[in-house]
Amino acid sequence: MIDVNPLRPLILAAAESPRLKRALTGIPVTADIVRRFVAGETRIDLIGVARTLLNSGRMVSVDFLGENTTDRNQADATVAEYLSLINDLAALDRPALPGIAVPPVEVSVKLSALGQALPVDGPAIATENLRILCTKAAQADVWVTVDAEDHTTTAATLATVRELRGEFPWLGAVLQAYLHRTETDCRELAGPGSRIRLCKGAYREPPEVAFQRASEVTDSYLRCLEVLMRGEGYPMVASHDPVPIAAAADLAAESGRGPDRFEYQMLYGIRDAEQLRLAAAGSAVRVYVPYGSQWYGYLTRRLAERPANLAFFLRALVSK
Ligand code: FAD
Repeated sequence: MIDVNPLRPLILAAAESPRLKRALTGIPVTADIVRRFVAGETRIDLIGVARTLLNSGRMVSVDFLGENTTDRNQADATVAEYLSLINDLAALDRPALPGIAVPPVEVSVKLSALGQALPVDGPAIATENLRILCTKAAQADVWVTVDAEDHTTTAATLATVRELRGEFPWLGAVLQAYLHRTETDCRELAGPGSRIRLCKGAYREPPEVAFQRASEVTDSYLRCLEVLMRGEGYPMVASHDPVPIAAAADLAAESGRGPDRFEYQMLYGIRDAEQLRLAAAGSAVRVYVPYGSQWYGYLTRRLAERPANLAFFLRALVSK
């Protein structure tokens, strides 16, 4: 059985074309295909969606969309938006979740949006900007998790997280199971208090660094999951795939992990019924909710994951 998605690398490669980007970013954020995955363009749109999710018994992790900035002013503007976002999220009511004491509100952030790719001192600037966000988040009882981007950034991103975890022990990181290195990273990062979000990985990566077949990626995910669930940290099981979701439940039962010691995470707009089912069963479920006008990269990654979404997207393009 061939278990590679042949369209995935093609869609991710085509997405890098500036012409396609110009054509597609003309689609309004209100178009169904964008709205399915993105909460809206503004913080007001986002706060409405976050409130609804919290009232439904789920938790949220909010991403202000943007990545790969090479402009210092833009990185500073992103920091300013995150500070306002943390303020607004902190003001939301937090409905009680039985048996779950962790902060229900989190922000997710890409270091490349905070300046990591700037030509001079990028990683140091991103680290400093992340420190500013974490300081504010700590005062507001909001968690922060650092997203994983393409493999050329993995070492620098994990170095930043390591550096700041001394001051902010609750700072989370994302690991991508498709990378060959990740099982080792999981072993190193499964210590007390360590918050690791495990996902499969969404970028176009070469075979030298990443598994290419879906079955290999799932197998790696299961190995990494076992390391994290048997470890002493706080695993965040970020997947919509029923296989890892069931495996996490089994490992939690085996190791006596209650709903306050790990959580499921899914993306806004994907498997909503499954999110609600897990939450109703008493599990901690967090929904990753993006907002903002820079939705192009995020949306093309979602399309590449599931080619069925592409037809939906092309229809939106034709009717624009
Ligand atoms: P898959 O095998 O891809 O999907 C399983 C099933 O889920 C599919 O059969 C389908 O029913 C459903 N599904 C999955 N994707 C879609 C979709 N786009 N549209 C509709 N249905 C879908 N990746 C990174 O590289 N870095 C990150 O920082 C990162 N953060 C993430 C945070 C969260 C909370 C989540 C849930 C994912 C994140 N990802 C990140 C994306 C992740 O790497 C995968 O690309 C994505 O989750 C799809 O993998 P899957 O585990 O859901 O399994």
